[in-house]
Amino acid sequence: PLLAFSSCKDTQPVRSTFTAMDTAITAKFYGAEAKQAAEHFQTQIEDLDGLWSKTDPQSDIARLNLYGTLPTGQLDLRTIALLEKSSQLSRETKNAFDPALGRLVSLWGIGTEKQQVPGEGERQAVLERCGNENLMITEDTVSLKNEIQLDLGGIAKGAATDEAVKALEQFSLDGYLLSLGGNVYVHGEKPDQSEWRVGISDPDGKADYLGYLAVSDCAVVTSGDYERFFIQEGVRYHHILDRTTGAPSQSGLRSVTVVCKDAAKADAYSTALFVMGAEKGMSFCEKEDTLDAVFVTDDHQIFLTDGLKECFSLTESERYQVM
Ligand code: ADP
Ligand code: MG
Ligand code: MG
Repeated sequence: PLLAFSSCKDTQPVRSTFTAMDTAITAKFYGAEAKQAAEHFQTQIEDLDGLWSKTDPQSDIARLNLYGTLPTGQLDLRTIALLEKSSQLSRETKNAFDPALGRLVSLWGIGTEKQQVPGEGERQAVLERCGNENLMITEDTVSLKNEIQLDLGGIAKGAATDEAVKALEQFSLDGYLLSLGGNVYVHGEKPDQSEWRVGISDPDGKADYLGYLAVSDCAVVTSGDYERFFIQEGVRYHHILDRTTGAPSQSGLRSVTVVCKDAAKADAYSTALFVMGAEKGMSFCEKEDTLDAVFVTDDHQIFLTDGLKECFSLTESERYQVM
């Protein structure tokens, strides 16, 4: 009976920190079943990593890359759904996001020991064995034509976030924040009802954040050129590749942050908008009413879509300017 009168609300979240999907994962959960939720979350993400990893030879993606074609019966339903979604987003973005650039990603090797600037001939040769149009999904089989290789690095963390959000519905929670290597999702509210603030990194690294978004019940996903890159002869080569050139995109952007209810879309769109650049990207967002974004250019200008004008606060106002 004493417990029933307890009005003391747990104000400390249950935190979860681990490494999976090639990145640091952190989460905090508030509510009666925060502990169970945290445990379930980690197990689930590790499970999905096992399905979608490019390097784990047992994964669905590694097996597809090895065999080139597999009966759908040998693939997890979540993998097939993810491939269908990836393919559709690739078409929608005119291949600015493309899940079948595996060979191009490997050729550049950005972030690995063998990172290099490949010659034009090599790039063109590899591009012939790339491209979403070679990904064939039917009821019976998934096949990779033209020797393409899948790389879901631009969508997998978002897709895993969506799976986690669905699963977390079964727990009694007041709010939570998930962060899969910068792919953030915020839900509900904190015990003191203060707003969630999701920081947008300062690409220059001079401050932790240049500003933040006050949002909830949505994904906030950033793609930028400042995390995986190398510099050679004054040129920055980063990990987001433009299929039209076979090289890291040069669209004048440092980062794009996407806000969208659907975390897989947010992830794929952040990659795509980064390739498109601010101008094309802004008009792409105008046509998609479920999609909002913050563009940060290399000359420190910030462009916001209409849906974010109220939620964004600039903290580094000496160096950045909202246009
Ligand atoms: P992060 O991995 O930092 O979250 P992104 O979501 O933008 O960044 O994904 C970049 C990753 O996706 C790269 O490391 C690579 O594996 C893959 N990739 C690179 N260029 C593209 C592209 N144009 N379309 C789809 N995936 C890409
Ligand atoms: Mg992405
Ligand atoms: Mg991402």
